[in-house]
Amino acid sequence: MTHHTKRLFGFVAAAAFLAAPSFAQDIPAEVTLFQNVDIFDGKNEEMLEGHDVLVVGNLIHRIAEDIPASGTYEFEVTTGALHRIETLPGSGVNGYSVTILDADGVQTETREVAVNVIDGEGRTLMPGLIDAHYHLMLAASQGDAWRLEQPDYTHATMVVEANNLLQRGFTSIRDTAGPGFGIKKAVDEGMIPGPRMYLSGTLITQTSGHADRTLPFEEPRVFSGQVPVGEGIMKLDRVVNGRDEVLAAARQNLKQGATQIKIAIGGGVYSLYDPLDVTEFTEDEIRAAVDAASDWGTYVTAHVYTPKGVLRGIRNGLRTIEHGQLMDEEAAREMAERGVYLITQPFEAEENLRALANDIQWAKYMQVVEGWQRTAELVRQYDIKMGFGTDLVFSPATNHQQADFLARFGKWFSNVEMLRMITSNNAEILALSGPRNPYTQGALGLIEEGAYADIILVDGNPMDDVSILGNGGANIPLVMKNGEIYKNTMN
Ligand SMILES: [Zn+2]
Repeated sequence: MTHHTKRLFGFVAAAAFLAAPSFAQDIPAEVTLFQNVDIFDGKNEEMLEGHDVLVVGNLIHRIAEDIPASGTYEFEVTTGALHRIETLPGSGVNGYSVTILDADGVQTETREVAVNVIDGEGRTLMPGLIDAHYHLMLAASQGDAWRLEQPDYTHATMVVEANNLLQRGFTSIRDTAGPGFGIKKAVDEGMIPGPRMYLSGTLITQTSGHADRTLPFEEPRVFSGQVPVGEGIMKLDRVVNGRDEVLAAARQNLKQGATQIKIAIGGGVYSLYDPLDVTEFTEDEIRAAVDAASDWGTYVTAHVYTPKGVLRGIRNGLRTIEHGQLMDEEAAREMAERGVYLITQPFEAEENLRALANDIQWAKYMQVVEGWQRTAELVRQYDIKMGFGTDLVFSPATNHQQADFLARFGKWFSNVEMLRMITSNNAEILALSGPRNPYTQGALGLIEEGAYADIILVDGNPMDDVSILGNGGANIPLVMKNGEIYKNTMN
């Protein structure tokens, strides 16, 4: 700590305590105080009833009963201890007076800090929602429409969708294939509204693999020396074979800011070429992706359904598995032993999906729908760590009602378990990106002092009924991300 800011007195001083170095210019002109809320903190089934939450800058600063909206406060910067509260009588103005002292305890400056008071009126306050398996581009363009559009049109739809996510209550997404690095930058700069984004970049797949979108008669580069026109459209996926090409593809994603690497190691439902039962990428190819990622301190996840694929993946270093609906007992046990997270989807036989699929795709889809029933039992039996990710790329209706999807887990999981999935469990998955995590000032998915101020207010209690988080965010009147309010329909 620098000599002239050894001690900061005042309510806001603790913000400096959390984010050294502490300069007077870091003290914000306004802070936000949520009053009279019941708090789900992202973990505990017992809610904190009738509490207040003070947000300073982009972090949650204090959680307590009856935090006053005006007054003079003293904080010891080094310990955070509160020494004195003295409410200014009859001022009628919400605000704090902050006194800044130098190292010798001499007053150098006084600042007025306005307080934006939000009366929660007994609503639930909880962490912003997280989707750990999302595809911003596919969700925005609804199905395959992006194939026929100009790239800049598709990018425009992604910008709109980024804001829609926030309005539905989602303050973070993990994008498991597709473009978005520029949009993420614009969001982080505050240029456009959107959630925090953990991007994988292109989905890395083999020739004939789940994400091989080349035309049937197009040959891999190794034969033709040319990049097939169907490859890498809109940077959704990249077709590679062999250790060298996997390394290059993974490193290209890392170069652009990928927080994790995604590979496809087994057949897919809506794939063009591969049956569900096939296994993709050799051990050496999977290891190549893991080598590239771990050299950058991060991890690899994979699209895969079958037990053979799951086992090959986790035995070669994968930290999370996407889907996994056809896994067996051996795969489940080993996932639990290795502490691998499962991000899966309780898909159902929806009419609108039937219309989008050909007969082969639909037969594969129904296999996955039925497989999930068994997988759910295995998840419970072996207590596999679960994240929440929708992957609803084909159905605009459900895609835009993202959190409704959560309630489908209700047959197997309690309300608090489902709420953890969409908050703190998913935040643990995001944190697997280690030094590649772009957001490290505070915790995500939690309501605790020092955590990021990613907060939603909910009409009603999701601990009684998680489905109230759905319906396009209709019961979520307020959304805050990084300390800024992006939605407030309460006034
Ligand atoms: Zn997906």
